[in-house]
Amino acid sequence: MLNVPSQAFPAPGSQQRAASGGRSKVPLKQGRSLMDWIRLTKSGKDLTGLKGRLIEVTEEELIKHNKKDDCWVCIRGLVYNVSPYMEYHPGGEDELMRAAGSDGTDLFDQVHRWVNYESMLKECLVGRMAVKPVAIAKENHEKKFLNGILLKSKVPDLPAKEISPSYDWFQTESLVTIVIYTKQKDMDSESVIVDYQDGCFRAEILIKDYSYLLHTELSHEIQEDISVRVAEKTGKVEIVLKKKVNISWKYLGHPLENHNSFTEHKEKGLYYRKCKLISKVDVTHDTKLYCLMLPPGTHLQVPIGQHVYLKQTVTGTEVVKPYTPVLESLHSDLQEPLHPHNKYIYLMIKIYRAGLFSPHFDCLQIGDCVSLSSPEGNFKKSQLQDLEELFLLAAGTGFTPMIKILNYALNITSLRKVKLMFFNKTEGDILWRNQLEQLADKERRFEVEFILSEPTCEWTGKQGRISLPLLSEFVKRSSEDSGVLICICGPAPFTEQGIRLLKDLNFSQEEVHSFTA
Ligand code: FAD
Ligand code: NAD
Repeated sequence: MLNVPSQAFPAPGSQQRAASGGRSKVPLKQGRSLMDWIRLTKSGKDLTGLKGRLIEVTEEELIKHNKKDDCWVCIRGLVYNVSPYMEYHPGGEDELMRAAGSDGTDLFDQVHRWVNYESMLKECLVGRMAVKPVAIAKENHEKKFLNGILLKSKVPDLPAKEISPSYDWFQTESLVTIVIYTKQKDMDSESVIVDYQDGCFRAEILIKDYSYLLHTELSHEIQEDISVRVAEKTGKVEIVLKKKVNISWKYLGHPLENHNSFTEHKEKGLYYRKCKLISKVDVTHDTKLYCLMLPPGTHLQVPIGQHVYLKQTVTGTEVVKPYTPVLESLHSDLQEPLHPHNKYIYLMIKIYRAGLFSPHFDCLQIGDCVSLSSPEGNFKKSQLQDLEELFLLAAGTGFTPMIKILNYALNITSLRKVKLMFFNKTEGDILWRNQLEQLADKERRFEVEFILSEPTCEWTGKQGRISLPLLSEFVKRSSEDSGVLICICGPAPFTEQGIRLLKDLNFSQEEVHSFTA
């Protein structure tokens, strides 16, 4: 809420506006981009009106500051004067005003849990709440909107106690094994994220919308290669640590924040670890494939269709943007991958010359580090089960989520057809064109079609933007009752228009998946 989200670029009608569930965007005035905001925060101007003083804010005081030119908002106990930020907020002033004079934490978490508001608004910090205010819902409880999104109703309670995981540990002379009993069927290693940094051990087990956390400062040092085993049928997770010195441990460690807790996943802040840039390879004139290496003490696999956040400091302000990990190549399953996929993350990133984050990221040298979050996303592999036909509609870098989906889907034998319709401006913009064409030649169930919006006169293929005639010809069920999924991703206007057209073509909501941050 209180940051410029990556998917809402300020330029009105800009093609770079990424999809986010049909959120309404408000055109920003000239000179009101994220970079302009960062400049203002560095200018030394007193943005709180308190001359740098931090105060304790009572609930009564907070409520008084509820006007556009005097607007305070509380997020996680800290109070910010957001009036100077109003004109820079891509969701518009009205959206920001929904949290005016109240606790905006819930609204913020529903939309932009990943946004680093602490860094973005540090110059607007008024102080700390004296008493935590009760979340004030200005709108009625049935319809909570922020930035145009209908907020999902919060799951009111924690899951019943009996499904909360528990843990135990045992040791041999050289190993310590931590066992987590999730009592869940169908657990897999993607549900387990482990980090070991500076003596701190952190294991997060994802169970539907919840997460179980073990977080402890280990009593003794361990080696960095940690192994994870998951018994899918019983849901037992074993994390094996190698002792650095073969002595008996009296206890596992000192508990750290939220140790042994089982809470809604979104209640936990995003956790970042530093990854090393291993390689960057040109994909097109403006897009590169970057390989990042996870730290040795990390176990993390990004599920299909999910994204991660990268965090960098740009001119003194932390900026966070989402990116969707891809495969090393579309032939990855055919040959031994160059790097084992559980230690390396591949990102295909377009560099916008006037962009804030991507040019900065591209300046990283091989061996430099960048912070990478745990995965997030609303796509589930299970959506691909029991399908007969899969249609992928991608525009520009909206192709990135399709890469893993395509690869996974072609391994499902019951799937009869996978079609990709790939929209780009010019031939030179088509990502992995050769690989896609080779795949289509080799795999008879796969078809690809390229549609250009700014072709040269030599282009003999289809032209234009997403439209009813294009879609009605491309996205056809082979029979009335065939199981179909249509995945769509690209600039927001593309995705929004696509969703509308698919509705007109009588595809149900369950049959259409769009990707959001
Ligand atoms: P921005 O600063 O956001 O600018 C982008 C463009 O907008 C530039 O052309 C810039 O000139 C223009 N612009 C910015 N401000 C203004 C202004 N005031 N007026 C006019 N024009 C302006 N991208 C990928 O490349 N690969 C991925 O895998 C990927 N995955 C994503 C996953 C998700 C879930 C989402 C939501 C987005 C994803 N993106 C991906 C997009 C990515 O997050 C960034 O939005 C993108 O990299 C641009 O960020 P930036 O900071 O470099 O550019
Ligand atoms: P681009 O500007 O090169 O455009 C690619 C194609 O998109 C165009 O050829 C056109 O066919 C279509 N398009 C563009 N603007 C349109 C409009 N206003 N109406 C209809 N169609 C339009 O694309 P790009 O620079 O590669 O941007 C890709 C977008 O995808 C970014 O906004 C990025 O944030 C988003 N993205 C989202 C996710 C995700 O949500 N998971 C993942 C990756 C990329």
